Amino acid sequence: MDEVLEKYLALEEKVKGYYPNLNTERMRAAFELSRAAHGNQKRLDGSPFITHPIAAAEITADMGLDEDAVIACLLHDSIEDTSVTYEDIAKKFGTTVADIVEGVTKLTRVVYTSKEEEQVENLRKMLMAMAKDIRVILIKIADRLHNLRTLNYQTQSKQSEKALESIEIYAPIAHRLGIQRAKWELEDLSLVYIDPIGYKEITSQIDNRRDSLEAFMNTIKTRISARMEHYSIKATVSSRLKHLYSIYRKMYSQNKDLSEVFDLCAFRVIVDSISDCYNVLGHMHDLFKPIPGKFKDYISTPKPNMYQSIHTTVIGSEGIPFEIQIRTWDMHHTAEYGVAAHWKYKLDISGNKQSDEEKYAWIRSLLESQKDTDAHDFVQELKIDMFADEVFVFTPKGDVTILTAGATPIDFAYKIHSAIGNRMVGAKVNGRLVPYDHMLQNGDIVEIITSNASKGPGRDWISIAKSSEARGKIKQWFKKEKREENIVHGKSAFDAEMKRNHLSMADMGKEDIIPAVLKKLSFGTLDEMYAAIGFGGITAVRAVNRVREELIRLKKQDKQLEKTQTEKLMPPAAAPAKDHSVRGIMVEGLDNCLIKFSRCCTPVPGDDVLGFITRGYGVSVHRAKCQNYLNSRARGEDEGRWINVSWGNTEGERYPTALTIAANDRAGLIIDIATALNAAKTKIHSLNVRDMGTGKALAFITIEVSDLVSLTSAMSRLKMIPGVSEVDRPGVNK
Ligand code: MN
Repeated sequence: MDEVLEKYLALEEKVKGYYPNLNTERMRAAFELSRAAHGNQKRLDGSPFITHPIAAAEITADMGLDEDAVIACLLHDSIEDTSVTYEDIAKKFGTTVADIVEGVTKLTRVVYTSKEEEQVENLRKMLMAMAKDIRVILIKIADRLHNLRTLNYQTQSKQSEKALESIEIYAPIAHRLGIQRAKWELEDLSLVYIDPIGYKEITSQIDNRRDSLEAFMNTIKTRISARMEHYSIKATVSSRLKHLYSIYRKMYSQNKDLSEVFDLCAFRVIVDSISDCYNVLGHMHDLFKPIPGKFKDYISTPKPNMYQSIHTTVIGSEGIPFEIQIRTWDMHHTAEYGVAAHWKYKLDISGNKQSDEEKYAWIRSLLESQKDTDAHDFVQELKIDMFADEVFVFTPKGDVTILTAGATPIDFAYKIHSAIGNRMVGAKVNGRLVPYDHMLQNGDIVEIITSNASKGPGRDWISIAKSSEARGKIKQWFKKEKREENIVHGKSAFDAEMKRNHLSMADMGKEDIIPAVLKKLSFGTLDEMYAAIGFGGITAVRAVNRVREELIRLKKQDKQLEKTQTEKLMPPAAAPAKDHSVRGIMVEGLDNCLIKFSRCCTPVPGDDVLGFITRGYGVSVHRAKCQNYLNSRARGEDEGRWINVSWGNTEGERYPTALTIAANDRAGLIIDIATALNAAKTKIHSLNVRDMGTGKALAFITIEVSDLVSLTSAMSRLKMIPGVSEVDRPGVNK
């Protein structure tokens, strides 16, 4: 039998060991496809290339990853380096495997250049965001680990490049995912190439002392084991030298000699139960002298990456301090394999597939149980679509820029600098010219083409831009540069809106309400108002609403209708005070009247609102766009019962408001909606999903928000959920 097949069969055995329902034919087919595709390609050490995917898959098997992940790992270089395509893989192994392989390929294509710390952190986040599926990252770590193990065949420049990338990008990611085993190996292997001299110094010093260190470790180990036996505690005791890289960091950051490095040796006691852990701790502190301030209980307070153990540093009769870690087997698996341990040890033993909900249940419980921000960050980076509100792109120089999800080249340009945005005449994404409304994707390289001959931004850019930063800067430009044009533009928008409302400037003149409207909107002249509408400072709709309100008010004054009617309903109006709002609503001319918010259009602070005087239930508040209000006005009924209300002090108030979400029906949709709202810190009142047939679903939700800003942000998070086509506020005229 050939050597390659032998290696493959050993892998197959290993996977079967923890994954009893493995479809061996399917896995074998992946191996055969990969071997055929890589053909005569060779590794630098002369071995057939296929040995690399097999070795990487071995590492994923050590992590205990599922069948799809191991198969994807066998194929992980096939899209990048052979003629095999995404479609080929999808056809033979399904889209899950194909998606994972494609994800690994994308990560492989990201070019890394050494950066300052902030950039490195952004790059880490970007890799996580690009991965979408956590298995992509785990395979990438396995791939990198095997490449590091065989790095000695590479050129020197390649060696230092890969080593640096591993230590700055992949080791921290492994750490965050709690895969300590991979983290340590990545660090120790990288150190060889990053500081060969320092590495040799440490290893030779350790070698010199190896005999005495080992004798010491054996003595201590024997003492601990004897103690465990004497008290009949079932425990596995092990000893080890601390990892080279952690010794290295201590020596160099604290400028110490190896002999001065505190606790070079570490011991580990693994037991069956948590109560045994504390029991063992008592024995250790009885046996050795604990060093004050060196005790840490990560069992009661786990680290953000789920790590649990008790750490204590003690000193024996030899006068040498050392660390003891005490943990259960469960904790041990989590410490070694982190996120991956989830697959290995929580997998249904019958091999049943878990639903997405089950898979992510622990992430949610982690989110709920851990309040500290680190844990939150960790979860954000883990559940990849929690990055849904951000997109990571490169500048042509390779800097990572973080933008709002859905961002366009316009947002990118203004993020770099206003001057870049204002002089933009075109944009390229990954080398190709794109329209301004092109939606940027993670990992895109964005280049802005500028020209001094540019006439400035287009007015339509304001509606194309996704970030308030870009919109603000564009409006600023129009405000400054184009006053005349703004006036013309604003006047025509205002006139059109007036016409739409069956109002005319003649009405305004007759009633002499222009000064009142201008005063309300804080403008000195009509031109100022037009200019503001022109550059987008206020909307024409809002300006016309004020006109309408004034008209209604004047009409009321004329007819004295309202007075008599409201007096019947409400106690007489007190002297107007500064803010006599009830639930954040101020009713013109009335204090402390009964307020309710209409259910038809569920207004929130920031919405333009109107009040309707109900018969006996006080004032009900509607949005100016409310379909019921518009219908009532169209019919010409109840003219006098619509009154002016406005938002007062809404601090501390929460407003329930309704949303509808149209989406493709799929498993996990509800979780994604709940997760998105949770991420937006928005409380859900009710959530109902109705099957609309033909694979479509309509969700009706009521959420609690403080104002329009938080509502809009919650809505944009919902819009980012895969498969969601529309998020709407019901009950209004569109
Ligand atoms: Mn590879």
